[in-house]
Amino acid sequence: MNLRFAIAGAFLLSPLSPVRAAVNEVTNLAPGIYFHEGDLKAYGHCNNGWIVFDDFILVIDGNFPSGAKAVIPKIQASSDRPIRFAFDTHHHGDHAYGNLVWVENGAVPVAHEGVIAEMMKYETGFYGGAPGRWEKEAQNRKDVAASKLKPPTVLFKTSMAFDDGQRRVELLHFGVAHTHGDGFAWLPKEKILFTGDACVNGPYNYAGDGDTGQWIRTLEAAEKLGAKTVCPGHGPVAGGELLREQRDYFVELRAAVKQHWRRQPAEMRGQVQAIRAVLEKNARIAKFVGDSLVSQVEKVYTERGGKAFSENKAATDGDQHVRK
Ligand SMILES: [Zn+2]
Repeated sequence: MNLRFAIAGAFLLSPLSPVRAAVNEVTNLAPGIYFHEGDLKAYGHCNNGWIVFDDFILVIDGNFPSGAKAVIPKIQASSDRPIRFAFDTHHHGDHAYGNLVWVENGAVPVAHEGVIAEMMKYETGFYGGAPGRWEKEAQNRKDVAASKLKPPTVLFKTSMAFDDGQRRVELLHFGVAHTHGDGFAWLPKEKILFTGDACVNGPYNYAGDGDTGQWIRTLEAAEKLGAKTVCPGHGPVAGGELLREQRDYFVELRAAVKQHWRRQPAEMRGQVQAIRAVLEKNARIAKFVGDSLVSQVEKVYTERGGKAFSENKAATDGDQHVRK
């Protein structure tokens, strides 16, 4: 792909009228602010963003190692500033396993403290215990097998800011959502919000490491920022309404599960298609319904005290996004 053409050809977006960019293309959202929709289907990559400050570049999301390597030349084509910080929106492989690539390119991984707590829970191999998620992923991905986990080293509790007098980016934590360490990147002047997987634009929700009830409240807190442009963790850039649609999806999912939650696990499992039909009828949220609905229903059911569906254990671990 001719990168310069892709950048020049991307619409210069008004924050009020987000335009859909193609997968693997760079979109210039505002001067010095870029969005890149990663190729989830082919490579499991997440979306990236980057902000060009006076002296350095802050990148949003670490991606998988191959995703980091794919996007670095595109960042370098947009600016000659050095990449100094890579912000992991959460601990999942498609957002944090590329950290070593960023470090090798001169950047420091940054994250909410919950990312470290989650890594200590799931990355047992790194912390001296039994093989964990990294080792499992390395069996399926050459880029992971060829790299090493590099947990973030600059951490924040509720917020931290990057501000050169012209551009300002606030990294914010609003509580548990997709994980216990979700961070948002907020650009108050441009009203652009990077959400990681706390908000996606398509059938990409994975609920296994989070809490669906708290997720709703976290999205409501993020909504109060008044974003005009939302850059999700997966799927195309959207307007501010995406946060409300994502919230409504979990509200409706929980309401649908609640109708059946006293059933036995096998019976509950048998209701998934009926729940799918209910959710798909709602045009505002139908886009979030996908192959991972079974594990989402199971998650809500177990949050309410039900037992996990025995045949579905694999869906609560490992690959966080169903790609097909
Ligand atoms: Zn993701």
